[in-house]
Amino acid sequence: MKIIGAVLTLIGVISSLAIFLLNPGIIYNMKDRNNNDYEGVKLYCPKCKFGYPNLKKKLTHCNKCEVCVVEIDHHCSVFQKCIASKFKWLFILVIYDVFALTIYFFGSFIYLLIRYTGLDSNI
Ligand SMILES: [Zn+2]
Ligand SMILES: [Zn+2]
Repeated sequence: MKIIGAVLTLIGVISSLAIFLLNPGIIYNMKDRNNNDYEGVKLYCPKCKFGYPNLKKKLTHCNKCEVCVVEIDHHCSVFQKCIASKFKWLFILVIYDVFALTIYFFGSFIYLLIRYTGLDSNI
């Protein structure tokens, strides 16, 4: 049973780290930006004052991060980062993992409580 807890913790740590470290589609790089040609450019961010002529995906400005994000899902206040559709599966994995871990810890707690307080012998 201990292996389940270890695996769940490991999945949680790795996927959380990945969300922290990986770029979900935030455009930081000046190379990705083109501020000369706005003609016919629909993907223009008035806040960043940049157009993205070569981009075919949906672009949204995140007011909390103050950056433009490709295909944003939502801004996560837990991670303090934008969650884009590219890494949405990772975010869902973390949620399920935390859920499974909670069940695991409660289950272990109840098991240990019954096992070591001798409650089972009284039943
Ligand atoms: Zn922007
Ligand atoms: Zn954001």
